[in-house]
Amino acid sequence: VSELKAAKTPPAVSEASKKVAGGSLDIRGLSMSYGHLDVLKGVDLAIPRGSVTCIIGPSGSGKSTLLRCLNRLVEPKGGDILLDGDSILTMKPEALRRRVGMVFQHFNLFPDHTALENVMLSLRKIKGMSRSEARRIGEARLGEVGLIGRKDHRPAGLSGGQQQRVAIARALAMDPEVILFDEVTSALDPELVKGVLDLMADLGRQGMTMAVVTHEMGFARRVADQVVFMDEGRIVEVGSPTEIFDAPKSDRLRRFLAEVL
Ligand code: ADP
Ligand code: MG
Repeated sequence: VSELKAAKTPPAVSEASKKVAGGSLDIRGLSMSYGHLDVLKGVDLAIPRGSVTCIIGPSGSGKSTLLRCLNRLVEPKGGDILLDGDSILTMKPEALRRRVGMVFQHFNLFPDHTALENVMLSLRKIKGMSRSEARRIGEARLGEVGLIGRKDHRPAGLSGGQQQRVAIARALAMDPEVILFDEVTSALDPELVKGVLDLMADLGRQGMTMAVVTHEMGFARRVADQVVFMDEGRIVEVGSPTEIFDAPKSDRLRRFLAEVL
């Protein structure tokens, strides 16, 4: 935690002082269908290295599907996704799992494993690390999310916020170039939301490239470098938080904001 806190000052972190070296994502003409249902209808979006992109929009607009395409939990129908210039559509699955991390709404931790074991598992399986090396990195990452004291607890013995921080530590442990977050605070009790959002804001300040689907408009306004508004499988508007929240151009975005703000 102290390392994360240190990154908070000064507010404008210079490139040189950023701790993590994120990668860029370039999404081009992306389409995706479930059967006959066209869910993504030609999405173009650049996510610059070291930036935080927040994706907002009504339920069913395709936000989760977009994130799922970015690490190929689902296969796009058309278009391409470049990670630092490499197409992820032709990337080996292990390389993709290493380079693009994901954190889900429902944590997806293994219930029979401790916090530390949950972080160690993918290091062992995907990175092929020895038990002792995986333990060293796992403990360091749990320390960074403030949970070293809970490393031997199973998920059921942790609060929702702590479970979500374990899931973030697990993603971080792979040293990914990008982390995708899909409504990671939506299942949390209100008093646990802030700790998780603060951790994510710290990661953003450290230079992690992040794509964040969220209903937390305050977070998007404070932390995002760019905000993307999606509706019906398309990006309707992209802009700075000020442009999106204070000067929406489209009726659809104005109506959405009137409902959620
Ligand atoms: P969002 O995350 O913005 O709420 P989703 O990407 O989850 O939207 O869903 C977009 C559309 O795709 C919705 O109409 C949803 O019902 C549909 N959909 C999502 N997942 C599946 C699935 N596994 N099978 C069929 N349709 C799906
Ligand atoms: Mg969703």
